[in-house]
Amino acid sequence: MKRTLLTILLAFSLALTTTPLPEGWVSAESKVEKAKKELKEIREKKKDVQEELKDVKKDVDEQKKKLNKLEKDLHGIEKDINKIEKNMKTLEAQLGKREELFKNRIRRMYQRGEMGYMTALLEADSFREFLDKFEALRLLVKQDHTVLEGYFRTKRKYENEKRELTEKQAEQKEKRDDMKKEYDKLVKTMKKHQKELAKLEHDEELKEAEIQRITYLTSNTGNFAYGGGPFVWPANSRRINSPYGPRGGRNHYGIDIDGNLGDPIYAAASGVVKENGPASGYGWVIVIDHGSGLTTVYGHMYSNTVLVSTGQRVSKGQRIASIGNNGRSTGPHLHFEVRKNGSPQNPMNYY
Ligand SMILES: [Zn+2]
Repeated sequence: MKRTLLTILLAFSLALTTTPLPEGWVSAESKVEKAKKELKEIREKKKDVQEELKDVKKDVDEQKKKLNKLEKDLHGIEKDINKIEKNMKTLEAQLGKREELFKNRIRRMYQRGEMGYMTALLEADSFREFLDKFEALRLLVKQDHTVLEGYFRTKRKYENEKRELTEKQAEQKEKRDDMKKEYDKLVKTMKKHQKELAKLEHDEELKEAEIQRITYLTSNTGNFAYGGGPFVWPANSRRINSPYGPRGGRNHYGIDIDGNLGDPIYAAASGVVKENGPASGYGWVIVIDHGSGLTTVYGHMYSNTVLVSTGQRVSKGQRIASIGNNGRSTGPHLHFEVRKNGSPQNPMNYY
């Protein structure tokens, strides 16, 4: 029974040590790839917004054209109304004069009185003259009446025209106001798209800069020749917990070197610190570029033990950090990788 428990415990601890560990350091290349994918997404979104903006701008232009036409129509109606009003004023002035004339004549007739009027007729020397005078008078009254009637007819016509135009004006104004509302809405949408586009353009710039920065880091530090000679062992312990190569159906891209928390980690060769930061599964990771496409990767450290910074030159055997148990790690150890142009190599080949 006691023996069985021990076996189970042993098996369990073995299972723990074979828990899948990080398969490979997230290379600058894959970071560039990720950033490029993100950039592509930004550009696609930008294209969509640009497309939408183009449509809205077209709508805005069309609406503007319609509005302008309507304003022009309205202006025309206003001009017509003004013309009619002017005509009406002239007509009223004429009418006033005529009315005055007519009234004066009637007044004079009345002032002379019925008898005076009759006297004028009776004073005729002959019946012929009487008839002529009567006819003249009758015509005069009739003429006045016809002319006045004409004036009133024209006045009514003008009034009708003005009413129609005013109604049309009100109608057009209502239409214009609706259109203006629609136009304002479109402009608002357009501005929203423009703002969105500006943001996307900024994102695009940032992403491009990020890619440039990563690419620069990769190309700049790798652009020198490796000093040559074998690497120095990166830790005090020589014990390898897990070798390079296939492990549990996956590839182990480095070696796991045994150690205690706080034991020193040394740079395997001279070079420049290319990466220095947290990486998924690795805890804290340091990547040193040794030139000629050779890099070494150190993993599972804690950030507070790190003694170097990105871009810093380090010499062979220089202490760079301490052994940790950070990330996907089942016990304190150094995960150590050697890469040639980004692809993993068996570190043992460098000793
Ligand atoms: Zn490892």
